[in-house]
Amino acid sequence: MKRTLKGSAGLLVAAAALGLSACKPNPPERSEPEAPAEPGEAVPAKPEFKAGASKLPPDRSAKPAKPVPVELWKEFSGEKAFAEVRKQVELGPRPSGSGEIEKARAAIDASLRAAGWDVERQEFTETTPRGPVKFVNLVARFSPSMARPAPANTQRAIICSHYDTKRFSTIRFTGANDGASSSGALLELARVLALDPQLAAKVELVFFDGEEAVVQFTESDGLYGSRFYARSLRTSQRAGQFQFGILWDMIGDKDLTITLPPDSPQPLTQNLLRAADKLGVRSRFAYHDRSIWDDHVPLNQLKIPTVDLIDFDYLAWHTADDTLDQISPESLRTVGAVTLYHLREALAK
Ligand SMILES: [Zn+2]
Repeated sequence: MKRTLKGSAGLLVAAAALGLSACKPNPPERSEPEAPAEPGEAVPAKPEFKAGASKLPPDRSAKPAKPVPVELWKEFSGEKAFAEVRKQVELGPRPSGSGEIEKARAAIDASLRAAGWDVERQEFTETTPRGPVKFVNLVARFSPSMARPAPANTQRAIICSHYDTKRFSTIRFTGANDGASSSGALLELARVLALDPQLAAKVELVFFDGEEAVVQFTESDGLYGSRFYARSLRTSQRAGQFQFGILWDMIGDKDLTITLPPDSPQPLTQNLLRAADKLGVRSRFAYHDRSIWDDHVPLNQLKIPTVDLIDFDYLAWHTADDTLDQISPESLRTVGAVTLYHLREALAK
C-alpha cells in the first residue's frame, strides 16, 4: 500500500511550482618491462607457442584501448550499488555536522577517486534553528586525461543526491532509502560513467549535505547543500553550461514507483520516460499529485531544468524502519540504467 501524501527525503510538499561525459579513448596501457631476475634466481622459462597455433603470445605493448561499452546502461550493477548503500548505512545515523557524516564523506570520496573522478569539497557553515552547522558538498568531475584538478567547463548535466540523514532524538534513523540509496547508486553511476570517459567529462556528480531540515522544512531550513551549490554556480557563472539536472532521492524501495512531481520540466522528463520505455521499466514511473520540495528546487530556480526521481510512496519514510531490508538492488539498477540511457542519448554528440 502506498501513501498518497508523503514527504520523502524529509520533503515538504510544496504548493507552488518552482520557479545538468566520458568518451575519451582510454590511454594505451603502459607495457611494464619485465622485472630482471635477481642474481642467482632461476629465470622462468617462457611459454612456447607453436607456429601455426591459434593462440598468439600476448603482446602487451600493442594492447588496444579498452572499448567503450556500446550499451553502457547494462554495465550498471544493482549489487555493486547496493554494496555502496550498505557501506553508508553501516556507519549509523549520519546527520549534518556529525562525526559519522564525515566518515560517510570519506567513503564517498574514496569510491569516487578509485573510479577516476576528481572530488571538490565544497565547505560552508550556515546558521540553522539549532545554531551554526558545518556542511560539505562533494562535487565530482572527470577528466579523460586525468588532469587535476579536472576542468570544470566540460560538464553539461548534473546528477545529484543528498547523503545526510535526518537527525532524530527519539529513534535510530539510518536512512537506507532516504540518503543512502541514491548516494550509493550515484557511486555506481560514477564507476560506469568512467568506462566512457568522454561522456563522464560531460557529467557533474554532486553529493549534497544538509538536504534534511534541522527542525522543519522552511525556505531557510533544509536544502542547505543544494542552495549553496546553486549559489556557487551563479557566482562562478557556470549555471549556463548545464542543459539539465537529475536528482535521485529514495530510489531503493523494493516496491519501486518513481513519483514524478507534476511540475517536472519537459522535455527532460519525457525523454527519461522514453528511456524507461526502451528499457522495459516504464511501469516503474508515474506522476505524483503535487509538487515536492527537494534538492531539485534550487537548480530549477537557477533555470537548470532538473527532475526529481524520487519514490515518495515509502511507508518507512523518516522511521526507524528505513533499513537495508527495504532496499533492492534491482530498484537501484532500474534508476541507474534509465539515467545512463538518457545521458547517452542527450549528451552523445
Ligand atoms: Zn528525509
